[in-house]
Amino acid sequence: MTRRAALLAEMGIAPIWKLRTNEISAEKPAHGWIPLKTAVSGCVKCGLHKTRTQTVFGVGDENADWMLIGEAPGAEEDRLGDPFVGQAGKLLDNMLAAINLSRRKNVYIANVLKCRPPGNRNPTPEEVTQCSPHLLQQIKLIQPKLILAMGRFAAQTLLETGASIASLRGRVHRYAGVPLIVTYHPAYLLRTLEDKSKAWEDLLFARKTMAGL
Ligand code: URA
Repeated sequence: MTRRAALLAEMGIAPIWKLRTNEISAEKPAHGWIPLKTAVSGCVKCGLHKTRTQTVFGVGDENADWMLIGEAPGAEEDRLGDPFVGQAGKLLDNMLAAINLSRRKNVYIANVLKCRPPGNRNPTPEEVTQCSPHLLQQIKLIQPKLILAMGRFAAQTLLETGASIASLRGRVHRYAGVPLIVTYHPAYLLRTLEDKSKAWEDLLFARKTMAGL
């Protein structure tokens, strides 16, 4: 946490980027994609810039109704520059295809962090604080109708809670004014096959929610 954020927290005031989460549904920001992409690719706001191969901005339809948010790039993503390109990404793409969604036409995929934490360690609160404005700008530009938070880290960070995935699933939350649904991380599903059916239920719930928006 920065000294400024710590001071604000002590005073019971949310950091600026958190305050801005309520303003998302307003009109698209004057600054467009190019300044944001440039800012992200040159970002040195936290220590991760020293160990990254490249930033991983996001991928997909920039006007998508669906926005999927994961944790942070892994080794493959750091090497290739796109989110969810490893085995977990293949599973994600297959699950999306089953309900006629694809990063090639109607979904945008991003992560909370744009740089890989070395050794795939968990992101630190300081890294999240520094990187979150990038994600907020992406959401402002895309203006998705629905966000799917994938995995414990993304869900807990976006919702600012320590609650379990199990307790967060099956309900419509909000992030930055946008309806948000929580589901398992595809990498977790690769290790825990018995929960795949629950992730499928989450996708169907998200589709039903989207239909009613
Ligand atoms: N896990 C994530 O959370 N994001 C990626 O991009 C890849 C793996």
